[in-house]
Amino acid sequence: MEEFNGIMMQYFEWYLDCKQNFWNDIKERAPQLAKVGINAIWLPPAYKGIGGADEVGYGTYDVYDLGEFDQKGTVKTKYGSKDEYLECIQALKKNGIEVYADVVLNHKMGADMIQTVPAVKVNWQNHNEVISDEEVVKVATKYTFPGRKHKYSDFEWNWTHFDGIDYNNANNENALFKFKNKDWEGEVDEENGNYDYLMGADLDFENPEVVEECKRWGKWYIDLTKIDGFRLDAVKHIPAYFYDDWIRYLRETTKRTLFTVGEYWSADVDKLHRYITGTKGQIALFDVPLHYNMYQASIDENYDLRNMFNKTLVQENGSEAVTFVDNHDTQPGQALQSFIEEWFKQAAYAIILLRNSGYPCIFYGDYYGIPHDNKPPVKDLDTIIQIRKQKAYGKQNEYFDDSHYVGWTREGDDSHPQSGLAVVISNSSDGEKKMFVGQKFAGQKFKDALNICPDEIIIDNEGYGIFKVKGKSASIWVL
Ligand code: CA
Repeated sequence: MEEFNGIMMQYFEWYLDCKQNFWNDIKERAPQLAKVGINAIWLPPAYKGIGGADEVGYGTYDVYDLGEFDQKGTVKTKYGSKDEYLECIQALKKNGIEVYADVVLNHKMGADMIQTVPAVKVNWQNHNEVISDEEVVKVATKYTFPGRKHKYSDFEWNWTHFDGIDYNNANNENALFKFKNKDWEGEVDEENGNYDYLMGADLDFENPEVVEECKRWGKWYIDLTKIDGFRLDAVKHIPAYFYDDWIRYLRETTKRTLFTVGEYWSADVDKLHRYITGTKGQIALFDVPLHYNMYQASIDENYDLRNMFNKTLVQENGSEAVTFVDNHDTQPGQALQSFIEEWFKQAAYAIILLRNSGYPCIFYGDYYGIPHDNKPPVKDLDTIIQIRKQKAYGKQNEYFDDSHYVGWTREGDDSHPQSGLAVVISNSSDGEKKMFVGQKFAGQKFKDALNICPDEIIIDNEGYGIFKVKGKSASIWVL
């Protein structure tokens, strides 16, 4: 990745008003995105969910319905039809952009029929604690997909393919039910005792029929769409051994690299290490701890900037870290809302784009803005992207040595002319930092690419410059 400084982009936000025409929009924008420097795009879940035409994509109903069948009140998904999806992927690939599919296998929603099942209630705060005698419940667990009529797969789901559900249709009771002879799975997060169960009808990955069907679907999906990799949803609720087996199988049968990043939503880096190890290093993870550090820095003026990379994945296992600023869950109004304040956004993008570790992912809502919440696009994000592409090379020198003023430099390398840079971040007032950028720059003038500081910095004979920064901002100095 580092030779060409790859960039991934999450190409959606929660409140897109795309009128079931999103795949077509992306297809048209593909050449522009390539020109900007995007190397890979993570597209939203492409299959039919319980919400039909309004479904963002995480309420999975039928993973074989990519906008092809009249199900959940619509043929197209929120984003368009199956054919439009395939054309969109083709257009992106033709422009040299890889495509990652969003995979939501933890749960299913919107069943076609109700089943009668023996179950026990468990405590929401501790899923390991049974709080009722066995009772007979009526649950939404039978999936026959009548609109699809067994095209692509004749697999029908029933309650034996699930561990539990949160609703009893017999008496309209909301409670967490675990089905008879089922156990929550291991190698998942330990929040709430055991965090196998998140929502909907929870897949039982200890059932061989489930594992086999998920593999069959994955192979079908790659063969049909020619996607290049995956973003895996909600992996902290899915056993690590399942994804080790699943992705290994798909890589072997398709003979493709299939870059894969999982969403393990935890600020605890040790849990991320554990999951990566659990998959035997088969998948990367999003650097959630770094997101939270940047979020804290943006909301707390006393944040000690020296701690920015403490207990982050990019610091401790950079080759398995996908760094990001925000996403569809952290944006305003969403479940994990922790949207980085506007004043810190440029600093945050400098942190993920201009350093020598991590695979950065740009958020659609930062690039284009979020009209639903009046959030503007991050200013000059294109400029920061260009600097990553052209100048963020060579040795990195760290100056995370002050609680309010930190920075780093890149010395540049011979294969990228004019490369090299210096970044200074302040969460206080105006300031400056003396930093080494390389003796080869002696006597040369650096300018602030974001045009926040008007000065020119002249590098001294030893290769140092005194780089300035305005209060509560980032400055990015380049030749
Ligand atoms: Ca689960």
